[in-house]
Amino acid sequence: MPDRIFNFSPGPGTLPYSVLQEAATDIVNFKNTGIGLIEMSHRSKQFMAVADETEALIRELMAIPQNYKVLFLQGGASSQFFMVPMNLLKSGQKATYLNTGVWAKKAIKEAKLFGDVEVAYSSEELKYTRVPRDDEYSVSADSQYLYFVTNNTIYGTQFPTMPNKDAMLIADMSSDILSRPVDVSKFGLIFAGSQKNMGPAGVTVVIIREDLLDRVAETVPTMLKYKTHAEKDSMFNTPPCFAIYGVGRVMNWLKQMGGTAAIEKINRSKAALLYEAIDRTDFYRGHAEKESRSLMNVTFNLPTPELEAQFIREATAVGLDGLKGHRSVGGCRASIYNAFPQEGVAKLVEFMAEFAKKNG
Ligand SMILES: *Cc1c(COP(=O)(O)O)cnc(C)c1O
Repeated sequence: MPDRIFNFSPGPGTLPYSVLQEAATDIVNFKNTGIGLIEMSHRSKQFMAVADETEALIRELMAIPQNYKVLFLQGGASSQFFMVPMNLLKSGQKATYLNTGVWAKKAIKEAKLFGDVEVAYSSEELKYTRVPRDDEYSVSADSQYLYFVTNNTIYGTQFPTMPNKDAMLIADMSSDILSRPVDVSKFGLIFAGSQKNMGPAGVTVVIIREDLLDRVAETVPTMLKYKTHAEKDSMFNTPPCFAIYGVGRVMNWLKQMGGTAAIEKINRSKAALLYEAIDRTDFYRGHAEKESRSLMNVTFNLPTPELEAQFIREATAVGLDGLKGHRSVGGCRASIYNAFPQEGVAKLVEFMAEFAKKNG
């Protein structure tokens, strides 16, 4: 692999090298059509086949039941913060939210524009170091859905299992979709921005149970109704063609890796290596509580902000890039999504040991 460094970026995240190579060829001349992938009509036979294949692979890898639609939308995962309540909540109706980080809090703010929001749990005062167990909150019987963020990208926390509540689940899975098997039938809606675990930036994948499509009020603008996009197979207007293609190639790669059960094993072993390195000394301190630790974003601190800056600087110099924590929390964060190679984790662990020995 020439010219590749280890890219711990939280998003857009690292992609499989084989996918980058395929894309580089297809952008110039897609399957010997003489037309580049990103200059071809979205209604062409070739591109329609790309979109169909991407959808089919997502369905297969996530074992999505027949009564769900898979949509390719724009506006980023952030637009789902308002689209979910705009489509599913009527004025005066209640929805339940779990405040486990910045992305959850932003979704709560938007939901309040449309209905009555019940925040059943918040770890904000604990600096978002944990996610709740089922017995730590309850959902009102008249709540329309329970909204949560499966993996809190910034803080490095993750629901170890999905909430087991008598409520329709809605999840922002932007940073851990396809990192482990999930029972889609427990959800009314799942969404994820593509740029962390699915492919290049530019598309938001929405998986929605079909019966929910009709809940939307007539007064909602056409482009903002899930129903509009569901009825036209995400071709109501020009879709983000390159991103849909890129997601398809990453799905193909994931299938070759053995799918979500196989990648979960790899993800667990990658994360375990890093957490062991953190727990081995007092020099490194994990941000998240142990039971809430994320397999995707590993967050940790060093004794001082100066040492953290030095750590990030020296790591970058040896080809370990993107380890700076989110600007709102500081510290360090290693994002190790599906496509992040195991050798990169091993190299970081080695670097951490040397750095602690020299500076501890
Ligand atoms: C990155 C991220 C978002 C925001 O995604 P955009 O596509 O930039 O809007 C939302 N939720 C989670 C969990 C994220 O990690």
